[in-house]
Amino acid sequence: MSKILQLPATRIDLPVSDDLEFFDEGFSNEYDFYNKIWNKRYGRDLWMLEISQMGIGYGRAASGEYYAYYSDPQSKKLDRVYMYLSEGIKDNFPLNVFVRGHEEAHILQPTVLNSYDLLNAKLSEIGIRRTVETQPPENLYDQISDVGGLVALHFANVSVGNSSDDNWQRFLNDFPRNSEQQFRNALDLFLETN
Ligand SMILES: [Zn+2]
Repeated sequence: MSKILQLPATRIDLPVSDDLEFFDEGFSNEYDFYNKIWNKRYGRDLWMLEISQMGIGYGRAASGEYYAYYSDPQSKKLDRVYMYLSEGIKDNFPLNVFVRGHEEAHILQPTVLNSYDLLNAKLSEIGIRRTVETQPPENLYDQISDVGGLVALHFANVSVGNSSDDNWQRFLNDFPRNSEQQFRNALDLFLETN
């Protein structure tokens, strides 16, 4: 545990084992992302069948993804973590910052690097008293990732929840999930409302 992974959007410094490889692909596309993983993992490109089974290329223009690779699922030894943001939001500030923070928080989830405590420390650091569960059920991971997205917006000087802030309004207008319960719950936690 002597290497530090710096997550720039949420400004979290994450201690990881020395042999963990982290691939931050930045803005890319889903096909290139998985193709890179498949080439390292299987030594080949994606098959057409996999592309269709994984739904690659459909409806994920305003998002990003992470991928955790375990060489030995039994021992839960995590070898590699990959992350990318869809190139369609490259020039879309502040949505791109939110998505980056969302994906960074996925890396902290119990099934990857199990460090939601660091997200809580960051919430506390920016003056938010609420915390996320550190060992939540998996169906809460995306909601907690939305909290990470809001932390990233905060650090990008977006006034979260402030309807008179142009960047906040732009984000809400551009964010396809802005009315979903998951996002509203994350926003309630961040604003300490509800
Ligand atoms: Zn997610």
